[in-house]
Amino acid sequence: MSPAPCPRVVALDGDDTLWENETNFVTSYARFRELLLRHVDMPPAEVDRLLLATEKRNLKAYGYGVKGFVLSMLETAIDVTDARIPASDLKEILGLGRWMLEHPLTPIDGAAEVVTALRDAGHEVWLITKGDLFDQESKVARSGLAELFHRVEIVSEKDPATYRRLLERHGVEPADFAMAGNAMRSDVLPVLAIGARAFFIPHPLTWAHEVVQPHPGAAFVELKSLRDLPAALRAMAA
Ligand SMILES: [Mg+2]
Repeated sequence: MSPAPCPRVVALDGDDTLWENETNFVTSYARFRELLLRHVDMPPAEVDRLLLATEKRNLKAYGYGVKGFVLSMLETAIDVTDARIPASDLKEILGLGRWMLEHPLTPIDGAAEVVTALRDAGHEVWLITKGDLFDQESKVARSGLAELFHRVEIVSEKDPATYRRLLERHGVEPADFAMAGNAMRSDVLPVLAIGARAFFIPHPLTWAHEVVQPHPGAAFVELKSLRDLPAALRAMAA
């Protein structure tokens, strides 16, 4: 048996790293904007700003996921229209949420091949995804990728404490761990903070909340595509 590769454990993010996610939120933002502008006169960008502000304010109460997003859309719609919005339109918002939850998942180009390549290279491959448990479990199942992972972890926040806890629980040293994902805030900075390695794979659509500027000198590796990950790990080990 060949020696364990370095890093021994490679973890991947789910939303917008292995499958498309934000594109559904963008569609919902557009339909929500259209719906509200039937009732109020304001610049379309202002509707987006108010909805994002409600979402951020509610994260502590609802966590990440579609259900919390639906509640934030309802709250914004009621506030912005001074509670004049008819129930039929609120029902339309509920329909948007249902559409998001049932929407077929579109895998990111190369997702299955890359996970398989990482396994074949001897890495232990984890999926670490954040959000509502039911929603994420359903996405993992629909992705068809679940069987390819050695471990699937669904967490409610991706901060240094979460990563530290996961590694401790499974006896993995930070030096033996690398994370790859599209969110600077969730997949890169907290991983560097615990002394592990991080690969940043930007997605053209990323939720505004996840976009943060890395500090100068932050030691992550940026990749153009998920498909570049196996080679980047080989280069790192060499
Ligand atoms: Mg993501």
